[in-house]
Amino acid sequence: MSEPSNHGDAPPRDDDAAGEKATDEKATGEKATDEHDADHGAERILRPRRALPTDVVRPTRAEVNLDNLRHNLHVLRTVSSRRNQAAPRIWAVLKADGYGHGAKAVARTLERGGVDGVCVALVEEGVELREAGISVPILVMGGYYKSAFRELLHHGLTPVLHEPAQVEELARTLASAELGRARAHIKVDTGMARLGAPPSEWSRLATVLARHREIVFEGLMTHFANADGPESDALEAPLDSFARACEVFRAEGLVPELRHAANSAALLRGGASFDVVRPGIALFGPNPLPRAGLADADDLASTLRPVMSIHTRVVAVRDLAPGDAVGYGSTWVATRPSRVATVPMGYADGLSRAVSNRGAMLVRGRRAPIVGIVSMDMTMLDVTDVPGAALGDEVVVLGSQKVPGERSSAEITAHDLARAAGTIPWEVLTNVSRRVPRFYREP
Ligand SMILES: *Cc1c(COP(=O)(O)O)cnc(C)c1O
Repeated sequence: MSEPSNHGDAPPRDDDAAGEKATDEKATGEKATDEHDADHGAERILRPRRALPTDVVRPTRAEVNLDNLRHNLHVLRTVSSRRNQAAPRIWAVLKADGYGHGAKAVARTLERGGVDGVCVALVEEGVELREAGISVPILVMGGYYKSAFRELLHHGLTPVLHEPAQVEELARTLASAELGRARAHIKVDTGMARLGAPPSEWSRLATVLARHREIVFEGLMTHFANADGPESDALEAPLDSFARACEVFRAEGLVPELRHAANSAALLRGGASFDVVRPGIALFGPNPLPRAGLADADDLASTLRPVMSIHTRVVAVRDLAPGDAVGYGSTWVATRPSRVATVPMGYADGLSRAVSNRGAMLVRGRRAPIVGIVSMDMTMLDVTDVPGAALGDEVVVLGSQKVPGERSSAEITAHDLARAAGTIPWEVLTNVSRRVPRFYREP
């Protein structure tokens, strides 16, 4: 269901709105239109584009509040610099299209806001950001593959290596492309068993790296398995392990310029800042710590603001009698005279089918329960208890909404949606599909 990356599709470009194209065709007449089709026909077939905001008819949309993003960067900078003598650099993690917010717009905003670097999972994600003009260092953290090194170097991306064969492959690529030197980060495993060299491999990795002085040992990194877990000592064992890794490399005369380990949760806990921190989720608002008290007394984590909100409108309303059923499989049956509203957002938009008969959306500032099974394009809400609910009403899937005529408002957070779906805010945000256009707000 998630479509976080751009495999096979052209990344949506900010500057090629279909509206402009239509104007071109009109202005230049039929012949030009033919040429245009000849030039771009293949591209049209092979690279379907997500509808751009100018094309959008359906009211379902995501709003990305860039001011809140800047605010969150500021909060994270305050937290990380307050607890360290030298403020660590902040390298924002923008994998999966910037956690579903649109990596390019997010990266531009953060770069202007002074972020020191960006981390992505895929080479493709790094290339997209370089092509968008992002000039800070871009670290490609995901596992990637031999053939990627040339592409990576060509775009000025920094690889993360975790096995000797990768070091040798990078060295070979450098030699064959006559590229001279390249920066790389080394990743060690301290309890995650995902990527990263396991302790038994550290020494061999260090020996191989020491033989290739053309590879600049810019960073040594690890990633925590339990930074967002409930134990207050969750970082201790992996940090001991990371310290041992540093020693193994030092024994080969290798001292990295930058050490880094902290994701959002570790950063907010105040541990493991080293020279660089790598926050992802917290930049977008959700606080990854399971409970207050793990963070410091100021609890700055509670001042993070949600960046994405999702809005749509009621497109149909019906009044049901007791015994009437709703949706596929008739899983919800009215037990009282009920008013049910249809909302044009379904699982193909990234609303998990797991929230069927569980979640809620906001209508007129009140929580309207999701009734029946979430279908591909639509979801039904019980609005019986929402006074005046009517066709065309704004519906908030994620975010807050005012009660009309009152000062109070209600909110559905990524945590709320995640709880209803039995998942985590990371998945909720990255699942919002390409079909939902992102509108960027600069208040
Ligand atoms: C995703 C990721 C992060 C960021 O994690 P958050 O919990 O979103 O802050 C940091 N480092 C690595 C290696 C990651 O894969």
